[in-house]
Amino acid sequence: MKLLLLNLIALLYPLFPETAELRPPAPTPAPQTVHDEGKRPKNIILLIGDGMGLTQVSAGMYAHKDKKLNIDQFPVTGLSRTHSAKNLITDSAAGATAFSCGCKTVNAYIGVDAKKKPCFTILEQAKKEGLAVGLVASCSVTHATPASFIAHVGDRAETENIATFFLETEVDLLIGGGMKYFNQRKTDPRNLVQELTQKGVVVSDFSKQAITDLRPDLKHPLAWFSAEGEPASALKGRDYLPAAARLAPVFLKQRSDKGFFMMLEGSQIDWGCHDKDGPRAVAEMLDFDLAIGAILEFARQDGETLVIITADHETGGMTLEQGTGPDTLAINFNTNYHTACMVPVYAYGPGSELFGGMYENTAIYTKMMELFGWGNVQPTPGSVKK
Ligand SMILES: [Zn+2]
Repeated sequence: MKLLLLNLIALLYPLFPETAELRPPAPTPAPQTVHDEGKRPKNIILLIGDGMGLTQVSAGMYAHKDKKLNIDQFPVTGLSRTHSAKNLITDSAAGATAFSCGCKTVNAYIGVDAKKKPCFTILEQAKKEGLAVGLVASCSVTHATPASFIAHVGDRAETENIATFFLETEVDLLIGGGMKYFNQRKTDPRNLVQELTQKGVVVSDFSKQAITDLRPDLKHPLAWFSAEGEPASALKGRDYLPAAARLAPVFLKQRSDKGFFMMLEGSQIDWGCHDKDGPRAVAEMLDFDLAIGAILEFARQDGETLVIITADHETGGMTLEQGTGPDTLAINFNTNYHTACMVPVYAYGPGSELFGGMYENTAIYTKMMELFGWGNVQPTPGSVKK
């Protein structure tokens, strides 16, 4: 019997020489400690890779010089079903509203349920409970994913309307593009940068200083705009996301003794895939993974922070085709839109054990709310704009 098994292994092994070469050289030790089980996190960091399916993660891993990513070190993995209220294929607005409010809504709806009724977001709840809150993205801050945590509108295209919600809920740290929707408005004469400043927010932007030159004053909320409109792609030199990931948790931790909630989005993986541009999608994936590394380092030292990584949907029906080898990635796309495929979930830290298995995207909200101890809170309408 033993001999037979050995023969079988000898027979099977030569079938996989290439895969063996592609694997990371040594397994990374799982950082999860057993005593974390059953412990509640004080802080939750939700990391969203827009359009990041398993192929996007795999492509990033194979493209990395060490053939591994920071994402590989997350000890708990799960799968999220991404469909929205009326479509098997979601968009980022309905996808992010599932995370922020825990309800399935209609594509293009932001922070409202399928009947367009405003839903109270986890960020608004965290603020109400006295936690510090942060939003960081490599797109404009009014774009669908960050917007779904703070705004309540029936159409994601209403960017100037979305911007006004940043005056209604105080965000302790806001980093991303879209400054023109605040200070060069076409739908009204308001200057929201001025209004934010009057409310005590320290507002800065890319034209005044680099993110690494910011010296945050802990007494005031901070907003740093990375672009007038949409920030450049990582391939064209955008590099602020990892720096923001280093800054954000350290700043937010000191803004409240009660803890913090933050969402950071690697926004442009999706855009590379819409354009069927493999190298661009891979560069965005690697940039997002650098941000993940900075967040993981913070969480390891902090010990009270739960980190969740997931995606709103997969984009492009991306494949790694025949011809993919140790030094070449043969990337192809089947569509220029999103797909209905499940997406991965990764978790690290106190409460991470809840994220194994397969569930609806709305369960990510439910699990976060339970872990914060707000599991029975009935969503109440947020501030709605007419
Ligand atoms: Zn998209």
